[in-house]
Parts: sequence; structure tokens; C-alpha cells
Amino acid sequence: MPAIEIRDLRKSFGKLEVLRGIDLSVETGEVVCVIGPSGSGKSTLLRCVNLLEEPSSGSVHVDGVEVTDPDCDIDAVRRRIGMVFQQFNLFGHLRVRENLTIAQRRVLRRSRAEAERIATENLHRVGLAEKAHAYPAQLSGGQQQRVAIARALAMDPRLMLFDEPTSALDPELVGEVLAVMRSLAAEGMTMLVVTHEMSFAREVASRVVFMDGGTVVESGPPEEVFGSPREARTREFLHRVL
Ligand code: ADP
Ligand code: MG
Repeated sequence: MPAIEIRDLRKSFGKLEVLRGIDLSVETGEVVCVIGPSGSGKSTLLRCVNLLEEPSSGSVHVDGVEVTDPDCDIDAVRRRIGMVFQQFNLFGHLRVRENLTIAQRRVLRRSRAEAERIATENLHRVGLAEKAHAYPAQLSGGQQQRVAIARALAMDPRLMLFDEPTSALDPELVGEVLAVMRSLAAEGMTMLVVTHEMSFAREVASRVVFMDGGTVVESGPPEEVFGSPREARTREFLHRVL
């Protein structure tokens, strides 16, 4: 059973059809990187997986549960999905440790002691244990994004969605966030990653998906998509970004 299975997914905003029949599955343990021009529907696709956007038609299954079924307990599914955005979305008025404990306590009903233990564990995982008492504004962008990843991990997600997690960062801070993502991938985390970091996609992805105009134009192992793209649109895009 795939971790994510998307079938003939369509999404319109008014008359604008943004996703035009997407088929995509992600196996457990796979790292799938989605690349493509701005406006091609990558964020919308990711947001349809945890129903931050409601698909117009088609189906999405997460671990065998159909999230597009109106009877689905979407909160239960969302609990299993970690999401990391371009903007880190940390709670600015809370210290790092509280950023990591609040959802554990409110959503997973963990005790304060357990939530704090798991927070510490996950701050270690992203190399920021010493920042537990800092406020987000006291951290660099790269550190804030690593906190956001640790916060998602503290919820024990079955899979992680990343939407351009390094796009808002100064260039010198990109590497530390990608390093954390690489180690997650090496640990076997299932990941669906929208990214402009072609070298990351090339080295870490099990599969690369090129989207354009709301469709999957081409997908395959990174060495194929980057090394010998079949479609003209893929070649043009890669020519522009590489
Ligand atoms: P990408 O992430 O590939 O840049 P998006 O999924 O963000 O693309 O957007 C795809 C298209 O959908 C764009 O034309 C965008 O303007 C439009 N769009 C995205 N979200 C909304 C929304 N909530 N309402 C109306 N249009 C939207
Ligand atoms: Mg986007």
C-alpha cells in the first residue's frame, strides 16, 4: 500500500483549473521531489494531500485511508502528516521548546514531561538542542526552519510534506536545512518535497516529478529526468534553472 496515492486529481479555483488530472503515488520510504515552474500547481497538489485545499474531483489516499471521502476523519490523517512551508510559521510569542510541545500536548494529549522529552530529542535531531529557550526571532532563518522541521517530527509523522522549505532563506543558510532533510531521507522517512534545489533532488530523490500547467509532464528516477529528459517542456525548464 502506497503512503500517498493520488488519482486523477483535479482542482479549480473558480474558472482556473490548477490541477488537471494528477496521478502520483509515493511508496513508504520514498523521497519524491516535485519540480516545475512557478504557478504550475505544486503547492496546490501538496495542499490537497492533507486537505488544506479541497480537491474538485479525483481521490487521495494516505496510508490507505481515502482523505477525499467525506466521512474521513481528516484530523486523524493530518496528525500523521508533517508539513513544512516556505515561511516557517513558528509561533513567534512562544519559545522554541513550547513551539515543539504545544501540539503534542493539545493534539496528542501527551503529558508535559513526555512532550518536553520528545521536544528535546527532536531539537537534537536538527542540531538545535541549545536553542530550546530562544524565541524564533532570535534565530536565523535556517535555524527557524530546522525548528519547524523538529516541530513536525515531534508529532511522529508517517510522512512529511515540504513546500519549498529553503526558498525564503539566504543562500548561505540553505545547506543546513537540506542537511537535515538528507538525514531524514537516510532514516527512511517518506517525503514529498516541492523544491527548486535541483542538486538536492538529483542526489536525494528516489523519483523526480516535473509538473507544468497543472499536469505531471514527466516523472522518473533523477538520473533519467535530469540526465535524459524525454519531454521538450522538461528540457526547457531544466535548461532555464540549471
Ligand atoms: P506553484 O506552487 O507551482 O507555484 P500554486 O499551486 O501555488 O503553484 O498555484 C497554481 C495556480 O493556482 C496559480 O495560478 C495560482 O495563482 C493559483 N492559486 C493558488 N491558490 C489559489 C487560491 N487559493 N485561489 C485562487 N487561485 C489560486
Ligand atoms: Mg508553490
